[in-house]
Amino acid sequence: MRLEFWQPHRRVKSIVDVDLDELRAEGHRAIMLDVDNTLLPYRSQDPPRSARDWIGRARQADMQICLVSNTRRIARIRSIALELDVPFLARAGKPRKSAYRKAAAILGVDPEHAVVIGDQVMRDIWGGRAAGMLTILVDPIDDNEFLLTRLERLIERFVLRGLGIMVARQDRSP
Ligand SMILES: [Mg+2]
Repeated sequence: MRLEFWQPHRRVKSIVDVDLDELRAEGHRAIMLDVDNTLLPYRSQDPPRSARDWIGRARQADMQICLVSNTRRIARIRSIALELDVPFLARAGKPRKSAYRKAAAILGVDPEHAVVIGDQVMRDIWGGRAAGMLTILVDPIDDNEFLLTRLERLIERFVLRGLGIMVARQDRSP
């Protein structure tokens, strides 16, 4: 395992804090968006108003979006994707890089023009970096999580602290 895969390129509080114009100016064309605790809380099927507005702004900025989730509840992701009018990849198999490569293929963009946004280092950041994409870590929306996710977060916190990690801008090497 390569520890630098655990390091997000950028870190913001929430998706609404992601600077879309900056991403676009850097040549990015697509966002691989995690769903649970990034776009909306677990068990919710209704993206908050702020998230819908942000997706609208992404569209205006000419950024494509693909929902990328490991969930097995495909009907739920499909309904969210339909609601937002974006494509999706469920049972994606994050953090395997094939998950993000597949999503990039769905949108027809090269990995270097794609940005991964998610709340889990061990899924979203690791997978995104492995796929050669820019990665942005957000704070999870709520703490009501599965036991495995909680355990992973403990490990993440431990490792991130050990690495003294915050942000490594512009470093796109995997
Ligand atoms: Mg998540």
